[in-house]
Amino acid sequence: QRQLRFKGERVLWIQPSSLPELLELKGQYPTAKLVVGNTEVGIEMKFKNLLYPVILAPALIPELNIVQHTENGIVFGAACTLTLLGDVLRDGVRDLPSNQTEIFQAVLEQLHWFAGQQIRNVAAVGGNIMTASPISDLNPVFMAAGCKLTLLSKGGKRVVEMDDKFFAGYRRTAMKPDEILLSIEIPYTRKGQYFSAFKQSPRREDDIAIVTCGMNVVFEEDTNTVKDLRLSYGGMAPTTVLAKNTSNQLIGRTWSEELMQEACSLLAEEMTLDPSAPGGLVLYRCTLTISLFFKFYLTVQHKLA
Ligand code: FAD
Repeated sequence: QRQLRFKGERVLWIQPSSLPELLELKGQYPTAKLVVGNTEVGIEMKFKNLLYPVILAPALIPELNIVQHTENGIVFGAACTLTLLGDVLRDGVRDLPSNQTEIFQAVLEQLHWFAGQQIRNVAAVGGNIMTASPISDLNPVFMAAGCKLTLLSKGGKRVVEMDDKFFAGYRRTAMKPDEILLSIEIPYTRKGQYFSAFKQSPRREDDIAIVTCGMNVVFEEDTNTVKDLRLSYGGMAPTTVLAKNTSNQLIGRTWSEELMQEACSLLAEEMTLDPSAPGGLVLYRCTLTISLFFKFYLTVQHKLA
């Protein structure tokens, strides 16, 4: 494959021929936009009048399209489409014991309600992460699951966990300007770990969420005592967030009705919104953080029984 370059009056579009060439170009043009499915950037340029003078098209670079099964989970190159992501995870759910694929099932649940088939066929998993939208449907799942992200630049490679530090602000990440997202690892679940994702939107199909979440609980071996809990929400702040205080307070407690009651009070304190918060529906959104946890509580209770 050879490098392709188109130079217009306003935009320089480059399709690099290899990963080293992409990293070289990102170092040379740190403000350049990587565009894969163009389902975010296209909207920004056409409807929001944003102009990106340098566009890098990495969709054909093999390293960005890998699907690799590892000891801990499955690694997806950042340019893998959502359709491919869904197909591979569906195979995983079919072939592996169900207690190992709780996160895969949650991603599939979100993908089911994510846009329409045409968008999913071209939109990349990396595009969803890097847009850092506060209402992304996948980021709360990846954050609650503690997915590992591999970042690359000409200077080297680093692996970071997707946590609340990864999103630095509204549509901003902690990545450096010369870095690109290479891949994401979606982990298997272990015995005693349960995971769910929920999305509430005005319309069930193809609609932007009001509140969306990923919820992860790990129990001490053969008990229903909480060892670790991660609750991640979209739609409650300028970034995807973790309900850290609520989770910390519930570690060491048994999964019971008292825990559920306390979680509801803690979430009501922690997941607040200013009355003027963009998006409106403030009371409804706050209530949703609680009712979605209640759904998780019942789902886990059912699996424990
Ligand atoms: P692009 O537009 O190509 O890129 C998006 C951003 O990611 C850009 O800033 C780009 O520079 C950056 N980027 C891409 N790859 C990399 C990389 N490897 N390294 C660094 N930066 C990178 N989103 C939801 O969460 N839920 C929905 O239900 C939903 N429905 C939608 C419906 C419609 C009709 C449309 C148009 C969009 C919808 N979206 C939805 C948003 C969008 O489809 C997703 O965010 C999608 O995953 C973006 O992927 P893309 O490849 O099209 O991104």
